[in-house]
Amino acid sequence: MGRLLVIGCGGVAQVAIQKCAQNSAVFTEMCLASRTVSKCDALKDKLEKQGTPVKITTATVNADDVNDVIKLIKEYQPDAVLNVALPYQDLTIMDACLECKVDYIDTANYEPEDTDEPVWRAAYEKRCKEKGFTAYFDYSYQWAYMDKFKEGGITGLLGTGFDPGVTSVFVAYAKKHYFDEIHTVDILDCNGGDHGYAFATNFNPEINLREVSANGSYWEDGHWIETKPMEIKRVYDFPQVGQKDMYLLHHEEIEALGRNFPEIKRIRFFMTFGQSYLDHMRCLEDVGMLSTSPIMFEGREIVPIQFLKALLPDPASLGPRTVGKTNIGCIFRGIKDGKEKTLFIYNVCDHQECYKELGSQAISYTTGVPAMIGTALVLSGKWKKPGVFTTDEFDPDPYMEMLNEYGLPWVVDENPVLVD
Ligand code: NDP
Repeated sequence: MGRLLVIGCGGVAQVAIQKCAQNSAVFTEMCLASRTVSKCDALKDKLEKQGTPVKITTATVNADDVNDVIKLIKEYQPDAVLNVALPYQDLTIMDACLECKVDYIDTANYEPEDTDEPVWRAAYEKRCKEKGFTAYFDYSYQWAYMDKFKEGGITGLLGTGFDPGVTSVFVAYAKKHYFDEIHTVDILDCNGGDHGYAFATNFNPEINLREVSANGSYWEDGHWIETKPMEIKRVYDFPQVGQKDMYLLHHEEIEALGRNFPEIKRIRFFMTFGQSYLDHMRCLEDVGMLSTSPIMFEGREIVPIQFLKALLPDPASLGPRTVGKTNIGCIFRGIKDGKEKTLFIYNVCDHQECYKELGSQAISYTTGVPAMIGTALVLSGKWKKPGVFTTDEFDPDPYMEMLNEYGLPWVVDENPVLVD
């Protein structure tokens, strides 16, 4: 039914592509394109040896160069482009999709690679003052494509990973089936997995460390409240995982949910971290290794966080050694039929089960499966409307059904323990 161009072939992409191959009724043809084409070729070989009916080709692309992406789209003529490269490439790929009138899907919102670039920096500092949060990423850059995508008659589906992605679908689903009004949402992201390394990140280290070393923030009564990094800590006993320390972070779905569900009075996001991870991160930060500003080293310019990435284990290599489970979901408080109501919708995912099925760990798995689902819904027309949207802006039911079908079954608990 559909011809898909996938850009990127890292940890998340490898899962998304293998899941597309499991859904060959929708994805009849795929072009796997990335900076390092050998990764695409290896995955193509693996799928072909398994006898996939999907017709697969591969290509090299530099997604930082809009003309390179346009050239590839014109050659391959896809029905949609799934961007599972890095957030740095979101805008170039969106521009190319606009030029070629092709639907666009991604898993993370735009942030620039060079946060010292003067024009971007000036706009960023203005936004920090106006909006009250200091994360390097926000939706303004991609929401600005709304009219252009509408005029072009194409769909942009933003952030269809787990968080953001599934968590926002959980909100839409809770609202549709369980609440007349939602008053608070706590998004909890728990990784109870153990990979045996003293320090490693579960997805792209540069993106991950930027996110967790930044200030935290949450949405309350229509505005942002910002905290210092890791300032707010809670302990939660996660079903099937156990008791974990979790910390309040800024997270991108809060921005979209705050805009699209103005009735919600407070939205917070918590992620679990072990003490060893936090100690290593603090030390690396103190010595400047998390910096995104280039420095000169032995006559060559290097970016400290990119150098650190080269030293750390590749997240895609954690699969065989990671044991334990993730539990990611949303706890709601609100009103139904005039009565107060609480609800927890969550998914539990087992690292070793993911590895057995696709050769990846659960973080890539829980992101790659929803990337396939969002793309399938756009391609099949169920989630197709001109403009740029997040996953909470569509009917959640077909997405929820596909989560059950493609390996991320969810649980509804109508009597959860709340977070204070
Ligand atoms: P990886 O670093 O493992 O993979 C990134 C891939 O993109 C690599 O194949 C890389 O190529 C390729 N790439 C990078 N730059 C370019 C470029 N300029 N042109 C073409 N290809 C390029 O990242 P992950 O798989 O861990 O993450 C992928 C995306 O998923 C990120 O945007 C991340 O933020 C997002 N994510 C979203 C989550 C969610 O729940 N919503 C959770 C986790 C991640 P090469 O092999 O040459 O390096």
